[in-house]
Amino acid sequence: MIEIVDSDRCIGCDICVKVCPRDVFDSGDDGLAVIARKSDCQTCFLCELYCPVDALYVSPHAELDDEVDSEQLIAQNLLGSYTRNMGWSRGKMGGTDKDPTRQLRILNRVGRENTQEAGGQGIGNRQ
Ligand code: SF4
Ligand code: SF4
Repeated sequence: MIEIVDSDRCIGCDICVKVCPRDVFDSGDDGLAVIARKSDCQTCFLCELYCPVDALYVSPHAELDDEVDSEQLIAQNLLGSYTRNMGWSRGKMGGTDKDPTRQLRILNRVGRENTQEAGGQGIGNRQ
């Protein structure tokens, strides 16, 4: 469940307001996102994924209120951690370069190109 909008990090871009499928956020009077309907959260992590400044924390506990605060989350490097683990944003560990299926696709493409250069048919062109 969504737990934190860190007001020190939030830049008021409204991306979380727009991306949330359950309309959990409002844009506050100061332009920053506020959690307005927390109990409607479905723990989909979309807001955390799309936040450009890692200002959000979605707890994996869908049914519980976690007792967390921003300082604690920052100290544990948890703000934006879901995004990093998914390999989505700037300078993140993991991600597509470590995805073995991507490596296989690259190998397959290189093999197909080599086969075609040699005059044969690549994988996927078989009849
Ligand atoms: S986790 Fe999903 S449902 Fe919950 S606030 Fe974020 S985008 Fe909305
Ligand atoms: S996506 Fe992040 S920066 Fe943008 S309004 Fe939401 S919390 Fe603030």
